[in-house]
Amino acid sequence: MLLLNPKRHDRYYPDERSREIMRKTIAWFEARGLKKVKQDDFDRAWYADFLEFVQRERLFATLLTPAGYGASDCRWDTWRNCEFNEILAFYGLAYWYTWQVSILGLGPIWQSSNEALKHKAAQLLEEGSVFAFGLSERAHGADIYSTEMSLTPQADGSYRANGEKYYIGNANLAPMVSTFGKLADTGDYVFFGADYRHQNYELIRNVTASQNYVAQYALHDYPVSEADILSRGQEAWDACLNTVNVGKFNLGWASIGICTHALYEAVLHAANRRLYNMAVTDFPHVQQMFTDAYARLMAMKLFALRAADYLRAASPDDRRYLLYNPIVKMKVTTQGEEVINLLWEVIAAKGFERDTYFEMAARDIRALPKLEGTVHVNIALIVKFMANYFFNPAEYPEISRQDQAADDEFLFRQGPARGLGRIRFHDYRAAFERFDLPNVRLFVEQIAVFRELLSTATPDEAQQKDIDFLLALGEIFTLVVYGQLILENASVYTINDDLIDQIFDGLVRDCSRHALGLHSKPSSTPRQMDLCLRMLRKPAADRARFERVWKGQVYPLKEAYDMNL
Ligand SMILES: Cc1cc2nc3c(=O)[nH]c(=O)nc-3n(C[C@H](O)[C@H](O)[C@H](O)COP(=O)(O)OP(=O)(O)OC[C@H]3O[C@@H](n4cnc5c(N)ncnc54)[C@H](O)[C@@H]3O)c2cc1C
Repeated sequence: MLLLNPKRHDRYYPDERSREIMRKTIAWFEARGLKKVKQDDFDRAWYADFLEFVQRERLFATLLTPAGYGASDCRWDTWRNCEFNEILAFYGLAYWYTWQVSILGLGPIWQSSNEALKHKAAQLLEEGSVFAFGLSERAHGADIYSTEMSLTPQADGSYRANGEKYYIGNANLAPMVSTFGKLADTGDYVFFGADYRHQNYELIRNVTASQNYVAQYALHDYPVSEADILSRGQEAWDACLNTVNVGKFNLGWASIGICTHALYEAVLHAANRRLYNMAVTDFPHVQQMFTDAYARLMAMKLFALRAADYLRAASPDDRRYLLYNPIVKMKVTTQGEEVINLLWEVIAAKGFERDTYFEMAARDIRALPKLEGTVHVNIALIVKFMANYFFNPAEYPEISRQDQAADDEFLFRQGPARGLGRIRFHDYRAAFERFDLPNVRLFVEQIAVFRELLSTATPDEAQQKDIDFLLALGEIFTLVVYGQLILENASVYTINDDLIDQIFDGLVRDCSRHALGLHSKPSSTPRQMDLCLRMLRKPAADRARFERVWKGQVYPLKEAYDMNL
């Protein structure tokens, strides 16, 4: 089965150590049990014991040290990191968060040319340290151009750093907090490492009320020598954006982990709850909601897995991942919200109960679309690729499933973050042509009309500057890319036609909804409105197909997994 099932863990790994990491992590959480996980969540207990486990088993050291800087089992391997993300969020987003912000903190370090700091980070990982990424500032949100953390040059060639950072995970105990600032004299950007134990480092408070420590910290005349500097100027800027390119991908995986656990719990509950002398799962609308939730979750996973292939295969000549990653970030995470919404409609009051995983999932699933760039920021990024994607395809060698034991070293030499509009993509139509299924055909018709809109009713200059309009356009574009990669992976994972058609039943509905959204924008022209209406389609209903998916794939999940208490 494609969905993670900790009780039947059988994912392929090319080496025993990777499998061992997943199995041991699952065993640790199952031994802990749901009751304790929930109690710690209510108590907002710091997860020191989890970090002790991470240290003892060298988990972050193995997974987050690039080859050549650590022991022989160390490599940065996205194939295994994806599932580790998923497992942590499956049990609790707080555990995932300390891992995630370590990844972000390590980004500027592994991209640095400061070899001494890289070796220091590898040593700290081996000792069980976590890392932190000090980018955000309280007043500036997404506007990192306005960064105020300032490094003032001293007579001896060193600097003194002054300023505050806000929303920084792990900044309460990371010995190397990768901090982003500007040089006071030249205005150049700079990344440097700050140690939370230094007397000029003030840990002000945890700005969240959660198990995580999401810090506000201040540096007061904090001494920074040349040896502490990770990067400066354009390199620091690129390190910042390229780190987020890597990190934002993980947010989709966290959503997948949360939804998978919530789905098992919800189906189990509904199948055993009897109302009016029948099971809740006998209601036709409940079957519809569960099947929709399942199809959406499978689509999330198929897309994210395929995006991982492109991430692993990336090179200076193949930067297609720069489109697929933000879609993992904004689309997979917002689909995660949709899955939880559907499940919650079914399990209703149970979703509030303190003993359920769901109660935590319903809260945490909201975070993922908002962290590391909001949905808007990511759609604004995605639309830059639209013209080349539709109208200027290029030939690329076929990318197969990337599950090899390899070090994804390109992630730390991604190069300049600019030039997005020049990136080209393979022709999306090939993926759709391989499937002759009713809802795929309807979706292809919708795409054809959207393409016609772009070429014959091209958004004018004012519309291209109107983010509200662009977001509506970007939602439809995103769906096309989403559908394409899902289909590419459907063959790789031999997904049966019933499920593919069920997934596209949802995509056809979503496309109609977004077309209506674009139609309703204040500035849409009569021609654009006409084309939007021409995009509307009703999915092809097929009772027998639906029954096969519901009875054959969704309902049996009631017996698939139940977390140890
Ligand atoms: C729990 C938590 C943990 C975090 N951990 C870290 C961390 O470890 N390190 C770190 O550096 N940061 C961290 N952050 C910060 C996080 O990355 C930011 O919250 C996020 O980038 C969004 O910024 P903001 O919430 O301040 O929104 P703002 O930037 O204030 O955005 C306000 C509104 O403007 C819109 N907007 C802004 N810019 C654009 C644009 N270019 N195009 C279109 N719309 C735009 C947004 O979508 C939003 O609707 C964390 C935040 C939280 C809540």
